[in-house]
Amino acid sequence: MKKYFKLHPYVKIVDGVKCSAIYNLFKGKVFSITKKEFDFLKECEKGIPLEEIQNVDYEFVSDLKNNGLGLTYEGNVVINKEIYGVPKAVSKMFKQVSLDKLFIEITNKCNLNCKFCKEDNILFRKTGCKKWPSYSQSISLDEWEKIISEAKILGCKNFIIIGGEPFLEYENFKKIVTYIRKDNTENTKITVFTNGTLLDNNEIINYIKNNNLNLCIQILENNDTKYEKISEKKVFLVKFIML
Ligand code: SF4
Repeated sequence: MKKYFKLHPYVKIVDGVKCSAIYNLFKGKVFSITKKEFDFLKECEKGIPLEEIQNVDYEFVSDLKNNGLGLTYEGNVVINKEIYGVPKAVSKMFKQVSLDKLFIEITNKCNLNCKFCKEDNILFRKTGCKKWPSYSQSISLDEWEKIISEAKILGCKNFIIIGGEPFLEYENFKKIVTYIRKDNTENTKITVFTNGTLLDNNEIINYIKNNNLNLCIQILENNDTKYEKISEKKVFLVKFIML
């Protein structure tokens, strides 16, 4: 009866450039083997009987058995290899998941009331501010911290803070910026969509400068009277020039 040598399910062979190795994944041990020994084991794993392999080193076979790496069988048994870690297809899929930008709506309240800006209009505006519909449950600061750290894990480097008018929630705004800047994330860009009406406050201006924030200011008109007609509030455009 022909004899077959097979490695155990948790034992794998790996061919290297200079030498090869046997991995005992169960015990976490690695054994260095020669190219000749690797080729021999490759043939065994293919189901070629020992009798048909040239120049079998039986001392090597015996060492493998003594080290709990394999067994000799009187038949061509099929050994299903154990799978460790994340399957290749799944790990490839995770590598492809990334987040380019994260929009953080810290409030839907606004101190203006622009005629075209209605909560029930859910049309997404990529620039400028917008009163988004209010929901019964808003996102807490703790939840934002978690969301931001998960976004960073996904490679997000572009954070956009939107409202309503974000500076109405200045204290929360600062906390959100702190979460984003935590871990000294280089090349992270923070942009704020604002109507600009609260930028006459030196503290806010200094904070913007010190934290390297980009502003995207919505200016609807270059005439104060016309602006008032649209926004239903007095807006003094000269403020923007002070920046
Ligand atoms: S300033 Fe912006 S958020 Fe406020 S009402 Fe006008 S468009 Fe809407």
